[in-house]
Amino acid sequence: MTVRDKDFKIFIPASEINERISELAEEINSDYKDRFPLFIAILNGAFIFAADLMREINVRSEISFIKYSSYNGTKTTGVINELVGLSEKIEGRDVIIIEDIVDTGNTLKHALAKLKEQNVASVEIISLLFKPDSFHHNYPIKYCGFKIPSAFVLGYGLDYDGEGRNLKDIYQLVD
Ligand code: IMP
Repeated sequence: MTVRDKDFKIFIPASEINERISELAEEINSDYKDRFPLFIAILNGAFIFAADLMREINVRSEISFIKYSSYNGTKTTGVINELVGLSEKIEGRDVIIIEDIVDTGNTLKHALAKLKEQNVASVEIISLLFKPDSFHHNYPIKYCGFKIPSAFVLGYGLDYDGEGRNLKDIYQLVD
């Protein structure tokens, strides 16, 4: 499959994604039983994952969204700009950050620091995808869907220069 100027091959089919999301939701439902977590999804990439995950969450909860910009094409720019912040008061809340993918980990490092400044009760991360070989931080990704190699991926919310977010399956760049 071609998106813009690049070729991609199927990598994780929708059925596997859905199955894994049910397992992750089950873990969260059990860990947060009788609590009231605030999910914070990071836009744009996490919007589809967040929507599918939330429909499997059965504990009392809320969800909000933040948006950063750190990506340009297939390589991280290393520059992180806060675009849209949180309107909720999050002091004392059990926060669960929803990410589509953790690559270098820089984006989340920044989000974590911001949240901790606001005295949250706890903060955990759920990420559908994780590239351990690119990660250069040491904070834990408590709920991780799939550990994947560092190659660029696309689909299920993840884009290549704005395109491909609508794809049901996850694709990997063909070199
Ligand atoms: P990090 O700050 O390097 O961890 O990058 C995190 C963000 O970069 C993610 O939320 C994605 O939006 C984007 N990103 C990282 N890797 C990929 C990829 O393989 N495909 C598409 N977007 C990616």
